[in-house]
Amino acid sequence: MSSALASTNAKSTHALPSYLNAVDLGPWGIYLQQVERVTPYLGSLSRWVETLKRPKRSLVVDVPIELDNGTMAHFEGYRVQHNTSRGPGKGGVRFHQDVTLSEVMALSAWMSVKNAAVNLPFGGAKGGIRVDPKTLSRGELERLTRRYTSEIGIIIGPTKDIPAPDVNTNEQIMAWMMDTYSMNEGATVSGVVTGKPIALGGSLGRREATGRGVFTVGQEAAQHIGLDITKARIAVQGFGNVGGIAAKLFALVGATVIAVQDHSGTVYKSSGLDVYTLLKHVNEHGSVKGFAPAQTLPDSQFWGVDCDILIPAALEQQITAANANQIKARMVIEGANGPTTPEADDILHERGILVVPDVIANAGGVTVSYFEWVQDFSSFFWSEDEINARLVRIMREAFAAIWQVADEHRVSLRTATFIVACSRILQARELRGLYP
Ligand code: NAD
Repeated sequence: MSSALASTNAKSTHALPSYLNAVDLGPWGIYLQQVERVTPYLGSLSRWVETLKRPKRSLVVDVPIELDNGTMAHFEGYRVQHNTSRGPGKGGVRFHQDVTLSEVMALSAWMSVKNAAVNLPFGGAKGGIRVDPKTLSRGELERLTRRYTSEIGIIIGPTKDIPAPDVNTNEQIMAWMMDTYSMNEGATVSGVVTGKPIALGGSLGRREATGRGVFTVGQEAAQHIGLDITKARIAVQGFGNVGGIAAKLFALVGATVIAVQDHSGTVYKSSGLDVYTLLKHVNEHGSVKGFAPAQTLPDSQFWGVDCDILIPAALEQQITAANANQIKARMVIEGANGPTTPEADDILHERGILVVPDVIANAGGVTVSYFEWVQDFSSFFWSEDEINARLVRIMREAFAAIWQVADEHRVSLRTATFIVACSRILQARELRGLYP
């Protein structure tokens, strides 16, 4: 157990819940350290901080399905509602063989922080099934999704907790979840999940929302550090939904995307990659590999590329103590969730490299999920221009509030985001009081 975690336990008014194995807290342990770091800035609200250190509700379910060969298989499913002081739980569902309760708890807590940071009227939640979906047929995947939805149906709902897509889940899975919940309710309840197909009440602009949010906070941060975005040189890891869209938006305003890394390798061109042609290449070939107009770089050299803005938009724990010293960028915008380890975060901070943290940088996706939920409730759908304009306004306001706190307390943007978000959550907690 880390010393920060030990001190968390020692200072707690109450012991951790018994189902939390103190020696194997994993991502939840990292989250607890982050809460510990902001506690001194919470003033009188810190008397409520204990509520952030334990999820409100954790449901572990058995998900049995019949496989195509007639045998039964059992999978472990989770839905954790970390905090609902500011509104219903909100957060994705992940299908992955390595999903654990600790991971789902941490992801649900980070959703509480993200939703409060952009001031959405949501708490934080997350779900998952410990399964490798690539090993299942389409029919098995549908049965798994439907049984899981039925099992967690006792705690989700459009005013209680609204799931969305995450790793290995998509629009089709959201359609099955919406249909299963609706069948059990006896009425179509489109607002029970977001990230649905447009034909079922999904929102225009949802697909591009996270990349657009990354671009918007990048523009704002650049202004603060005196970086001319139209002349900026950019390196992007991950060229999928988040990285591809963000790169396109930066290129549109004249920035030069010089390096892109994906699972297949790294392409580089010092005078600038043609982002549109590269997107077309990835569409046709599935990766950046073989993109002829560019030079191929060894993957390890990606982090040391001479650029102004570095956008990790692929996986967790990519910027580590091993490569943080190579980074030449003036700022890092975290499109991915958790791409920077706590040690690397400290190194970048000491080196004066601005890190725009995931809990604000990639909040564009959940913001448009919020718009989807609002549109479903009112059964009135907005134009894409309206959606994009509202998204940009929310992201700009959130960033400005966080920047001000960072400036005032001389802390990193990550700590500032936690201060803003945790204060909002605990203020709601205090105003509501304890029942009974
Ligand atoms: P995606 O599947 O569309 O794209 C992922 C990209 O990462 C692909 O280009 C892939 O080739 C690349 N990649 C995979 N393994 C890699 C490796 N080992 N090295 C380098 N690149 C690798 O996924 P996405 O939706 O763009 O999500 C990316 C990240 O953003 C994830 O951390 C996700 O949790 C986070 N995120 C996504 C959204 C969203 O709305 N899509 C919202 C918030 C956060």
